[in-house]
Amino acid sequence: MNLWELGVVDAAELLSKREVSSEELTKAVIGRVRDCDGKTGAYLTFDEEGALAAARDADARRAAGEDGPLLGVPVAIKDLINVKGQPCTCASKILKGYVSPYDATVTERLKTAGAVCAGRTNMDEFAMGSSCENSALGETRNPWNLEFVPGGSSGGSAAAVGGDLAIAALGTDTGGSIRQPAAFCGCVGVKPSYGRVSRFGVTAFASSLDQVGPMTKTVRDSARLLGALCGADGRDGTMPPEPVPDFEAATSNPSPKGLKIGVPREYFMEGTSPEIVESVKKAADEMARAGAEVEEVSLPHTDYAMAVYYVIAPAEASANLSRFDGVRYGYRSPRSEDVFTLYTRTRAEGFGQEVKRRIIMGTYVLSSGHYDAYYGRAQKVRTLVRRDFEKAFAKVDALLAPVTPSPAFKLKAVLEPLQMHLSDIFTVPASVAGVCAMSVPCGLSAGGLPLGVQFISAAFAEEKMFRAAAAYEALRGPMPKPRL
Ligand code: GLN
Repeated sequence: MNLWELGVVDAAELLSKREVSSEELTKAVIGRVRDCDGKTGAYLTFDEEGALAAARDADARRAAGEDGPLLGVPVAIKDLINVKGQPCTCASKILKGYVSPYDATVTERLKTAGAVCAGRTNMDEFAMGSSCENSALGETRNPWNLEFVPGGSSGGSAAAVGGDLAIAALGTDTGGSIRQPAAFCGCVGVKPSYGRVSRFGVTAFASSLDQVGPMTKTVRDSARLLGALCGADGRDGTMPPEPVPDFEAATSNPSPKGLKIGVPREYFMEGTSPEIVESVKKAADEMARAGAEVEEVSLPHTDYAMAVYYVIAPAEASANLSRFDGVRYGYRSPRSEDVFTLYTRTRAEGFGQEVKRRIIMGTYVLSSGHYDAYYGRAQKVRTLVRRDFEKAFAKVDALLAPVTPSPAFKLKAVLEPLQMHLSDIFTVPASVAGVCAMSVPCGLSAGGLPLGVQFISAAFAEEKMFRAAAAYEALRGPMPKPRL
């Protein structure tokens, strides 16, 4: 087996037994990226020297007697998470050339655990999009078929993990940006409960929705990586003082026996590809046959979640993105004549179409006269969506649902923004409600592209979600790999 094919748990075991060094493992990943990333374009930048230095450092820590579940494991990082001394572009022209002066909390935690920050992955600009095509800095292709999109916004991280160009990666999910690309590229992707992982040092898109999460080859890999990212952080005031359970323990001895699984009726709407509907039903049947109690549940406000999201997310984005003004960060228009044109030209030239569209929508719904009708109303409906989930989770441990209405689509095939937004229809509700959700590969479409199923559990009930996902993964058996 090639070292670059390993996942987190398997790599850590070889490292722990000293059968392989972190330097060897990191070199193998770098070799694979050099060989194949010309095709996939998963990475925007890769500081090979920096990664190798960190790997040698991890090896030195091990030689000094340290061991740990991530010590020496390389992890790719979406290009909106700050890593000191590395670029952090958010795939935007406005941040091209920007170098982070500090580490995000998640970066700091990875480094403390001895993980190696290895490469910066492509994304939709400022995490706005579902195909990676909104990146201003590069094109990413699906490793299963290079004519197809990898999904988005964490498309680079998904392509890297799905194509074995990374052992694991970090992504962020605001309305589906971890789960949707994970499903498109055949990897596991976890959106933790809102407030589970610190957002300090993560470039903000929509602050009441954003979460960082793992993208990996197995459910257990994700549980391990998430464990390292969690825990109270005084620099993020939205984290409740919840204990961090041992997520990985929830994935051992996976069995569906005793699990209560709900299948939400509203997630099987017209227009969903029959292959997706079939694969979710098959997963539910398999779990029922293996001893889970499966029942249909209803989340009646599902239909409104998209409307809520596309008011709240742009509103928050319009406020968050006001900091990019040509004064403090990155790009400044050379054509500015005074302070007014400095702001307007920098932003006009620096931001792409979709980002501008969100800022305009966001300022509109927040403007006086429209605030109550749109933003205030959306917050109220958000509560209704959350209550639907609370009611369902009074009865079941996890919901089993589709991740996306279709498998990956072709590059440049979806040009209409509203059509693109529809690919988040099954991921947005969990984001709006703040509950945890993850996608797990469940097979291939007739066209040879990966399909995924989604497991959703209550806020801060990640253990239940991991238990259900691990049980399903064990029933499913091994997934094929793409040929690159
Ligand atoms: N695709 C959704 C959007 O464009 C979700 C993005 C995300 O989760 N960051 O807003």
